[in-house]
Amino acid sequence: MPRAAKLVVRTAAFLHGVFGLGERRCVACHAPFLPDTPHAEDLCLSCRSRLARFTAIGCPLCGTPAVAPEDSGLPCGNCLLDPPPWSILIFHGLYADLLQALLLRLKFGGDFSTARLLGNLLAKDCAELPPVDAIVPLPQHPVRLRGRGFNQAGELARAVALRMHVPLKRELLFRTMNPPPQEHLTARQRQKNPEGSFSARNVHQTRILLIDDTMTTGATLRHAARALRDGGAGDIYVAVAARTPPPGYGTGPEKA
Ligand SMILES: [Zn+2]
Ligand SMILES: [Zn+2]
Repeated sequence: MPRAAKLVVRTAAFLHGVFGLGERRCVACHAPFLPDTPHAEDLCLSCRSRLARFTAIGCPLCGTPAVAPEDSGLPCGNCLLDPPPWSILIFHGLYADLLQALLLRLKFGGDFSTARLLGNLLAKDCAELPPVDAIVPLPQHPVRLRGRGFNQAGELARAVALRMHVPLKRELLFRTMNPPPQEHLTARQRQKNPEGSFSARNVHQTRILLIDDTMTTGATLRHAARALRDGGAGDIYVAVAARTPPPGYGTGPEKA
């Protein structure tokens, strides 16, 4: 290599080192890369675009896509008929592609670096929410917690809380093994709630951001948020890393 070229390479390496732009490893694909800004997430360009936030505007309560453009941002028919016990749902992306792979890596591989990554992305998404007093993870079912040894929602919530500078308060919401209170559930809901119910304590007038890794039907989150609301919580918001694609979105992580 000519001397001038060597000098350029050395100078570039020096500047990258000085300004925090040294080579890093992508948390998602583990490939080495040079970040373009000092504060970029530890993601290579390719993974960053695959993990971009899903931006199609749908129902603010459940994420279902709007049927007509003029309905964008308005609650869907289902949520009008049976409103969930939260004011806004935030989800980073659809449960597909790289996001799905990372969530599986966290849940079944215990890779907490993905929890930090996804928690940081989710915290950025949550910057649009009104202020909250506490971050609360969806509690794991005790049997599963014994088997896995950790709660993936708890690991995500820890990263969200750190980034948002809001206290993490796991103790506010817990699972009970007793049968759920049946009086306000329909027959169908009763069948769909086989995992016991939730109970909340010390949540009076507390504005809460409830965190889970993935939302499918939303039934479990509804039970959890209802317990918070019944406990007297203030505004409740829900944030999940991924939402299974609702009808109308297809299965791919298309951006609109
Ligand atoms: Zn990557
Ligand atoms: Zn909805």
